[in-house]
Amino acid sequence: MRSTNHPDVAQAITTTSSEAKDLLRMERVGTHSHIRGLGLDDALEPRKSSQGMVGQLKARKAAGVILRMIQQGKIAGRAILIAGPPSTGKTAIAMGMAQALGSDVPFTMLAASEIFSLEMSKTEALTQAFRRSIGVRIKEESELIEGEVVEVQIDSSVTGSSKTGKLTLKTTEMETIYDLGHKMIEALNREKVMAGDVITIDKASGRITKLGRSFTRARDYDAMGSDTKFVQCPEGELQKRKEVVHTVSLHEIDVINSRTQGFLALFSGDTGEIKGEVRDQINTKIAEWREEGKAEIVPGVLFIDEVHMLDIECFSFLNRALEDDLAPVVIMASNRGITTIRGTKYKSPHGMPVDLLDRTLIISTNPYKEEEVKQILSIRCEEEDVEMTEDAKEVLTRIGMETSLRYSIHLITAAHLVAKKRKAAAVDIQDIKRVYALFLDEKRSVQFLKEHQDEYMF
Ligand code: ATP
Repeated sequence: MRSTNHPDVAQAITTTSSEAKDLLRMERVGTHSHIRGLGLDDALEPRKSSQGMVGQLKARKAAGVILRMIQQGKIAGRAILIAGPPSTGKTAIAMGMAQALGSDVPFTMLAASEIFSLEMSKTEALTQAFRRSIGVRIKEESELIEGEVVEVQIDSSVTGSSKTGKLTLKTTEMETIYDLGHKMIEALNREKVMAGDVITIDKASGRITKLGRSFTRARDYDAMGSDTKFVQCPEGELQKRKEVVHTVSLHEIDVINSRTQGFLALFSGDTGEIKGEVRDQINTKIAEWREEGKAEIVPGVLFIDEVHMLDIECFSFLNRALEDDLAPVVIMASNRGITTIRGTKYKSPHGMPVDLLDRTLIISTNPYKEEEVKQILSIRCEEEDVEMTEDAKEVLTRIGMETSLRYSIHLITAAHLVAKKRKAAAVDIQDIKRVYALFLDEKRSVQFLKEHQDEYMF
């Protein structure tokens, strides 16, 4: 297995993870780009309208409580379900949570139907989604840089004379006492010499040995003879050896270490299936790193939208996977009532097996009031840089109440184009009417199909 302690790989990991985050950000410009958080105050009380969030106070507060538990690392491996009618802000709340968690905590979004692909099995797709949602914070010490000035002190009790001098870490130039060639820089790095460490330098070979932090131990090496110098790097020096922290997801580590994939697969997104042994090896390695204090696990969030689209096998997988040590918080959303669990003939609330429901915290969302719809529409107009007259907003709000919030949000963009075509500065009622006639909402589309079903193929 390739070690992620290697700087090149670490670099590659940092790059790929930030690229991946950029991609995520790009996806987020769109339907939910006006959402910047949950809009709660410090006491987790929801503000009526804040951070792009309007209304849905109880659900936002509940989401805030969960968020706090996630941040305190208290609820890895838990399942949460956001249930409510269509367009009531379930996804918006999940996005708000993602924003509030910040970029260091992995947040993965998945529409349940995405996992039914031909390229990999359902459970592999879910496993990848799980491991994408677990962060590993890897701590590494930065290397000493050539040219860096390092102060060293020769231990008088060992050498008989006390000297302090500056060493420049350069291949040829010798500032004072020792010539630290490339080899020595490497050795200092290899031995991870820190400020305050006592080291021995073998004059002939340049070999550096770290003795620890005490002179007493150094004295034990007195017998090594005059060819060996004892050096202490004083506290406060070698400060440049800082701790570097990368956060990568378990999935990224899987891909990088999977011999058939290579990290370029992270860019194409075409990661294929990853062998169980690779994952086992990685889990073992990470357990070692955690033990040595080199790595920390950051449980993130996996958001599964339209969870009723999963089938019974996926639900069993979820039940089992949530028990795992390395499980993220799983947030699901569904707009279904009592419906059939896919792959069975049984009906259940939200199309989910009752044993999974039983271990799930449920947050419910409710339909919006008229003034809330209006406010959300205004926020969206601002977000999309669209001027709209008050009258037009009223009409659009009424459409939103009668059809769905999502439909009315979509009309903003279309009406804006129509208004621009007639060179108007602001969207007016006529533009709304025009696009309302052009694009059917769900109810009218169903009505239309009922009236014209004979003309369609069966
Ligand atoms: P569905 O069940 O159909 O998937 P949903 O409950 O997930 O719907 P969203 O997609 O979150 O609904 O909401 C529809 C649109 O309304 C989105 O653009 C969303 O950002 C916006 N929206 C919903 N609720 C709010 C809210 N409380 N504040 C601001 N914007 C909201």
